[in-house]
Amino acid sequence: MINPVIASKLQQVRERIAGAALRSGRDPAEIELVAVSKTYPPELIREASESGQEIFGESRIQEAILKIPLLPARLRWHFIGHLQSNKVRKILPLFELIHGVDKLGTARDIDRIGAELGLFPRVLLEVNVSGEGSKQGFEPQNLEAIIGDLLTMPRLQVEGLMTMAPLSAEAEFSRRYFSGLRELRDRLAKQTGIPLSALSMGMSGDFEVAVEEGATLCRVGSAIFG
Ligand SMILES: *Cc1c(COP(=O)(O)O)cnc(C)c1O
Repeated sequence: MINPVIASKLQQVRERIAGAALRSGRDPAEIELVAVSKTYPPELIREASESGQEIFGESRIQEAILKIPLLPARLRWHFIGHLQSNKVRKILPLFELIHGVDKLGTARDIDRIGAELGLFPRVLLEVNVSGEGSKQGFEPQNLEAIIGDLLTMPRLQVEGLMTMAPLSAEAEFSRRYFSGLRELRDRLAKQTGIPLSALSMGMSGDFEVAVEEGATLCRVGSAIFG
């Protein structure tokens, strides 16, 4: 049965994404909504899926392993958490896209285990655009130096970049980090000749700003499920 609360929250988030896209001269169809379902029970995920949501984001592997088998097989799962090398073997078969690869070593492990499992793992590279010491992610300059190594791994499919803006009550405060990610992507694309077209940025507090700055994937949790 369709849950009216989740259905209307999803509808509102979709309308806000479309509005931000149109304001910035973009086609709303370029943006995919990842409903971040970490910490929320399978019942709510099922209700969101019955309201037309297909892509869900999880960040904790133990939780995801328990929840995913309880839900319809047509749902698509994105891993948005911090990926440790010893979890790669469990994660690859369950998730169609990994948002946060933040180390060359982890990328090598994904490539090697992908080959063993017969997969071509799709990943985004997490970038620490803000330079905050507490944040995960490649430093932009480091990424410019090693992008060649990342793109020549035979199994790894690097589709773009991901970032998290520092926590702030003001959505506008995130804008410079989102535009910074887009500009870095443009430089890397020029340098390598690979489009790196996916930009995963924006959460409940700032996804409209992210769309205005070029996001193709928004990771929204509490605005849908909270
Ligand atoms: C939890 C989480 C989100 C969603 O955050 P909300 O503020 O609930 O929308 C997005 N991205 C990542 C990486 C997260 O861990």
